[in-house]
Amino acid sequence: MTETAASKEPIKSSEIDPKFKYELSRMHGSEKILKCFQCGTCTSDCPVARYSDTYRPRTLIHMAQLGLKNRVLNSDTLWLCAACFTCTDRCPQDVEVASVIRVLRNLAAEKGCVPIVFKEQANSVLESGYAFKIPELRVKKRENQGLPPLPKGNPENVRKTLKGVKFIANLEKKAEPHGQ
Ligand code: SF4
Ligand code: SF4
Repeated sequence: MTETAASKEPIKSSEIDPKFKYELSRMHGSEKILKCFQCGTCTSDCPVARYSDTYRPRTLIHMAQLGLKNRVLNSDTLWLCAACFTCTDRCPQDVEVASVIRVLRNLAAEKGCVPIVFKEQANSVLESGYAFKIPELRVKKRENQGLPPLPKGNPENVRKTLKGVKFIANLEKKAEPHGQ
């Protein structure tokens, strides 16, 4: 994945939401976002940033601090975080970077801004209980090799559990156009 084309456009003052950082500082997980002083330790220690030209946790935090709400929530790179918590362990300001990224993802999901690959994965969990649909060919191959059938997923239970956290409702949302 790459950053959205919109993220490379010049910043207009009209897209800055000065209240965003304060809203984040009142949300569970991103309370300490105002403490970030942009040292870059999170990015330098992040295993994903090491292999990506665009993923920079420091930049995501900076965008949020600057009030670039729609840019950060529309950014595909937001979804590259592997939630390994290295940044959280290393941040000298105790910002809990991985939790901030989780909060930003939740806000993005509420706007329907979820990359298609994760939407497909989520739909698969709801339909089959598995994150990936097992191809029929593989099921047959197991049979031919005398392997036991795969355990059945329990999508009803999954749906029941996820309903309480607006997972299904958010999944059905269509992304708003950038800048909305
Ligand atoms: S390590 Fe902490 S203080 Fe440094 S840039 Fe990252 S979030 Fe900010
Ligand atoms: S939690 Fe995410 S941002 Fe932090 S180090 Fe791991 S992959 Fe990078």
